[in-house]
Amino acid sequence: MIQERRKNDLDRIESNLSDSVQGTFRASAKKIVSVSCRGMALILRRIFEIAISLPLIFLFTLPIGIAKFAKRIFTGKPVFEKKAVYGKNGAPLEIVFFNSRRYFVRKASLFVYVLTGKIALVGIGIEDYGSRPDLPENAYLLRDKPGIFNLWFVRESGKIGHEGKIGTEWEYVFRRDLSKDIVLILKSIPAALMRSEGSAYRPEINLLNVKFRNMRMLEALEFMEKSIVSGDRKKVFFINPDCLNKSVSDREYADNLAKSDIVLPDGSGINLACKIMGTHLIENVNGTDMFPFICRLSAEKSFKIFLLGAKPGIADAVRKNCESNYPGVKFCGVRDGYFDKAKESAKVISEINEADPDFLLVAFGAPYQEKWITEHFSALGARVCIGVGGLFDFYSGRIPRAPKWMRELGLEWIFRLLQEPARMWKRYVIGNPLFVFRVLKWKAFMEDSNGNK
Ligand code: UDP
Repeated sequence: MIQERRKNDLDRIESNLSDSVQGTFRASAKKIVSVSCRGMALILRRIFEIAISLPLIFLFTLPIGIAKFAKRIFTGKPVFEKKAVYGKNGAPLEIVFFNSRRYFVRKASLFVYVLTGKIALVGIGIEDYGSRPDLPENAYLLRDKPGIFNLWFVRESGKIGHEGKIGTEWEYVFRRDLSKDIVLILKSIPAALMRSEGSAYRPEINLLNVKFRNMRMLEALEFMEKSIVSGDRKKVFFINPDCLNKSVSDREYADNLAKSDIVLPDGSGINLACKIMGTHLIENVNGTDMFPFICRLSAEKSFKIFLLGAKPGIADAVRKNCESNYPGVKFCGVRDGYFDKAKESAKVISEINEADPDFLLVAFGAPYQEKWITEHFSALGARVCIGVGGLFDFYSGRIPRAPKWMRELGLEWIFRLLQEPARMWKRYVIGNPLFVFRVLKWKAFMEDSNGNK
């Protein structure tokens, strides 16, 4: 009662003062607070940059510089490479990098510029001057100093730069704060170790006799969109180390993968295998990360999606979640995956065909979904049929997905193992080392036969 009265009194006083006096006073007070907060944040950031870059100059810049000068004496190779890059407010900035192809060796000279305030420790990436079109959005992104450490580097090294470089930079600029920057620096260390530098790019990679496409998420989406528009139907499958282990002993599954229109790489294990094979994976294009892109594309182009698989109620929960998250997305049907595949498939197929989907997502787990799609592909009318494994369990909220930092560091499998140890231990604890062993054997075999690695 007393509280109610106090609140009413306060409301009255506030409305009495609300006009000019109060307005002016409030606006100025707000401005002062906001300017001082911003000033404090800038000072803190500067102290942080100096505290980090100073020891790094002694630890990296100086030793690398000395080694490079010594090398120059014997090889004549220049120590530095001069370049004009975008500085603060997009102005040209001349800086020198160490002459090296290794990302962090090359950039070790830049800690000196952090000290002098020309470059930030963390920011959007450092780019050659003139490489960006003269657009207002670029002007916005380039307002601040570029940074040695940046989110795109972490995402690209972790093979999950699905939104593209510009999309990732927007994400960084909007969420920027000092604590996130500190985490980003820490994440850059394992990211640098994961990075594949100098290895050759191949558009198609053969691992354990399964060929998959080495492409970006957006390219895979474009491939599927074209199939839907042209009516040229496609089967899309994903492979992770567990799938490849299964394909070794399951001929039918291996055959289904070979007959797929496109096989895409899922997970950090495939990235590691590519490194072993001396090539590099351009992106980790897994079904779970692809799903939001499919929803967005479908909403934009009015494509229809049918969800088939998982336990009763799960696919419907995915539909509800996505309808609220992706306005305009159209699900033309959902059905659980627990039916008698031998006896009831015909009935399920006619249900799907009646709904006439553009995308049919089948979530029975590998290799059952690939076998089911391949067996019934000619009877199905869906334009693009995709095997998506446990995807519905994640998007229904039944199983939480690993946090982004774990995915960036290629550690999603540890999260899965901890979630369902009884089911997953064989897949990961035995399956992962077995996979690495098989890849090493595969590499030796390919080298012996002098084939296309
Ligand atoms: N599932 C199904 N029908 C079956 C067997 C399994 O719909 O007859 C579903 C199961 O509920 C789960 C998915 O298939 O949602 C398999 O998930 P898992 O994580 O094992 O698949 P992965 O991504 O590892 O291939």
